[in-house]
Parts: sequence; C-alpha cells; structure tokens
Amino acid sequence: MISEIFNFNVIPVLFETDILVIGAGSAGCVAALAAAESGKYDVALVERYGFPGGTSTQMLDTFYGFFTPGEMPRKIVGGIPDRIVNELNATGDIFLRPNTYGAGTGVNYNPERLKYVWDKLIVEAGINYLLHTTLIEVLSEENERSTCVFWTKGGFYKIIAKRVIDASGDADFSYLSDYGFELAGENEPAQSLTTTFRMSNVDLGLFEKAGGRKMLKEKMHVSFESGKHNLPRKDGSVHEMCQTGCVSTVAVKVTDLKGLDARDLTLAEIEGRRQSYTYEDFFREEIPGFEGSKIIGLSNQIGVRETRRVYGLERLTKEHCMQRKVPEDSIFLCGAPIEDHRKGDNGEDETYWQYIPNDGVYGVSYGTIVPKDSKRSWVVGRCFSATHDAHASCRSMAQTMSMGQAAGLAANLSLDDDTGSDAVDTNKLRTALLEINTVLEVPHNLADTSRNGWSNNFK
Ligand SMILES: Cc1cc2nc3c(=O)[nH]c(=O)nc-3n(C[C@H](O)[C@H](O)[C@H](O)COP(=O)(O)OP(=O)(O)OC[C@H]3O[C@@H](n4cnc5c(N)ncnc54)[C@H](O)[C@@H]3O)c2cc1C
Repeated sequence: MISEIFNFNVIPVLFETDILVIGAGSAGCVAALAAAESGKYDVALVERYGFPGGTSTQMLDTFYGFFTPGEMPRKIVGGIPDRIVNELNATGDIFLRPNTYGAGTGVNYNPERLKYVWDKLIVEAGINYLLHTTLIEVLSEENERSTCVFWTKGGFYKIIAKRVIDASGDADFSYLSDYGFELAGENEPAQSLTTTFRMSNVDLGLFEKAGGRKMLKEKMHVSFESGKHNLPRKDGSVHEMCQTGCVSTVAVKVTDLKGLDARDLTLAEIEGRRQSYTYEDFFREEIPGFEGSKIIGLSNQIGVRETRRVYGLERLTKEHCMQRKVPEDSIFLCGAPIEDHRKGDNGEDETYWQYIPNDGVYGVSYGTIVPKDSKRSWVVGRCFSATHDAHASCRSMAQTMSMGQAAGLAANLSLDDDTGSDAVDTNKLRTALLEINTVLEVPHNLADTSRNGWSNNFK
C-alpha cells in the first residue's frame, strides 16, 4: 500500500461529499445520475480519462442486454438506461440491430455522441464531475467517512465521502480498501482482450450483394487456414455504424496477457494494433465493398473484459442463471447467454456460448453489488460479485447500467435511513427502482426489435 511509503497527512482535501462514484463508465455514470435523482445529496463522479463512458465510448457502439435473445424478444431493462438511449434517439444516433448476434438485439449508438450525452446529463444533474483524476489510495475509514486519494496533473488530493460506489471496472477502490476479490485468470482462464477498430468508406450495398456476413465468415476461414494474411483467428464480427459507410469490429483477440499488469498491457496494446492492421489488409484485399476502406479509429485502449471480481454479500453463479432464478430482492434482470471469449484446449480461438434455457431470464440480487467486507460502499459494473461463468452472461452494458442505477438509489436510502450498505431495505429499494421505470418483472409482451423500433417499446 502506498500509504506505508508516503505521508498522506500533508495532502489537501479537495472537497467532502455525501456520495462518491469512482469511474465514469456505463455503470458509474448511471450510478451518479441515480444518486443525484432525489436532489438530496451531494454526488461526485471521478474519472481517470478525459471523457466519460469507459468501455461504452472507449471501444464499443452497441448496448446489449436491453432485449432477451431469440425469437421472442422482450425488453427487460428500463429506467435511467432508457433515458440514455432516448437522448441518443432524439438526434438519430441509434438504430436497433435485431438478433444479429448471439447476445440478442443490440442498440447500436454513435459513441462520440454518447460522450456528449453522458456529459450533458451529468452536468444537468448537478453532479460534481472531475475528469483526469485517478484514484490511487484509500485511507482508513474514520468517522464513518472514506478518505480517497487521487492523482491529478496538479498534484495529489483527498476526497472524503460518506458513501462510495466503486465503478472502476477493475475494482480499484475495493482493492485499495483490502476487500476480498477473485482475480480473473486465477481459477479459470480470463476472457481475452480486444482492440476494436472502425473502418470508413465501406460500400455496404456491395458487401451485402456479395453475401454479407456469411461470405465474410467463409473468407475469414479460408484465409485463416491458408495463412495468407496471418489472421489471428477464424472468426470476428463486423457491423455497420450510425455514420454512413462506416463499420465497427470485434475481431482482434489477445490471450494469455493480464489486464492489470503494465508490461502485459503494453504487449497487449501493441499486439491489438498489429492484429487490427492485419485485418485491414485482409478486408481491403478480400472483401467486396472494402476495397477503398481504411481504419479511421482504434479503441482508446485495448478492451479488458474481466479483472477483479469483488466478493459480495451474495455471488451470482452459473447455476442461478441457468435455473432462471428471480430472487425477491432482485434489482435488475438479465437474459443474456454466457459468452466466454477464450482460447480453446487445442490453443485455438474459441467463443463458448451457453443460453439461458427456454429464452429465460434471471434476476440479480442486491447482495451482488455490496462488498461483503464493507458497510459503506457498493461495487458495480464488470467488477461486481459473480463467478467467471455468471459474469460472462451478466456483463453487457444494459446490465452494468442497471447495477449502477440500483447502487445510486441504494446509497440514497442508506443515507436517508442511516444504515450500512449491507442493511439497505431492499423492499424500499425495489419501490424506488420501480418509480423510475426499472423492469423487475419479466414482461409478457414481445418487444419491437425492428431497426427503428426503439420508440415503439414505450407505447
Ligand atoms: C472488447 C469488449 C467487447 C464488448 N462488447 C460488448 C457489446 O458489444 N455490448 C455490450 O453491452 N457489452 C459489451 N462488452 C461488455 C461491457 O462493455 C462491459 O462489461 C461494460 O462496459 C463495463 O462497464 P463498467 O462501467 O463496469 O466498466 P468500464 O466501462 O471499464 O468503466 C470503468 C471506468 O472507470 C475508470 N477508472 C478505472 N480505474 C480508475 C481509477 N483508479 N480512478 C478513476 N477512474 C478509474 C475507467 O477509465 C472507466 O471509465 C464488451 C466488453 C469488451 C471488453
């Protein structure tokens, strides 16, 4: 711990707050918005990069998890996540991609616009918002307050908070607080890392005429087997973006490198970029419609699917998901399959899929977002309490936003009632969630998943 080396007493306090959210990814932004909803408490949101969104804007453009996969799609997420999509919809910055991928219908969005939407909603909500500010240490929890130390270009600062929501993706707050966690890769192979890239000037009409995704898949297989382009894997997905003539990819795959180790991450970033340009050559030379295309953007950093998963009061397990349990204290729903990107036993690339039986849905308990070693914090997003398999189902952004929503409201209740995070009245929490239109019961009606169907789901 750094506090054993440095004297943190000399560091100035930047401010005190009621609720501090660490990390402005999809989970953290929604947690801060939910926490600020009542207007009763001071809420601060702190982010290490210069823009909000985390993975949602660093590398992706599709929200999965709003709809269940399969032939009978139902919309199972609501509340603040809907408001985010509505904002994007208002300017024509979304479209639905019906069941184009195993995860179900995706809400495809313009990620640059999403940065603006997160900013706008955060500022309008009166949240104390700090970018370029990195959590580096948590000091002792004295007087029922957590003192967090941040590094900025201007020096070190402390922020003191009554309640903390850890939305850092890597569970940095929980780690620095000495809470128990499981590290991905310790017991099962960690999911692979992916640099995403975007290409412009693609003739999508020509691509579709030549066979579209089926043709792409076949050509990828042939190229992989022949070794002509030295492709890293047989598969890889490409989809159109909101911007005309542009596509986005999830194709690169980097395995056997750790998502928290600086040397490994450096190697992974280099390898991710190398693979991206290997794909560029392949697309330009082999795929009709891509002849004049070029990469116009690489993800801001390589995508890390899992690192630390904190031990919560409860732990989401594969059995729970597959048995479609909906506990009484459920705070959101999920119907996504287990989608585990990994290296197969023969060393080859493999993505393992397992669907929730009968197009099913499961509920996620409040205890999965409360670290078992804490009384004043929550852990949301990809570091919540789940086993490797369950996490591989419950990590899409509609679900990470839902966790943030529940934690933000729970932080309010814990201050209202002067209780610990472990003692929040889950009936009250569910009532508060329903008041903002969270979906807690599996709906019977089918969702409209046509390309422009988003607005129809609110009829
Ligand atoms: C390659 C890849 C493809 C995926 N594809 C999809 C998809 O198509 N659709 C989908 O729905 N889901 C997808 N997922 C899963 C989903 O995107 C993630 O699970 C989800 O975005 C995680 O959100 P989060 O808020 O928990 O974490 P993050 O988005 O990682 O946000 C964490 C935030 O905390 C900040 N932070 C970290 N440490 C600190 C610190 N010490 N101090 C201050 N700030 C800090 C980070 O900069 C970041 O902004 C994918 C994931 C990956 C990696």
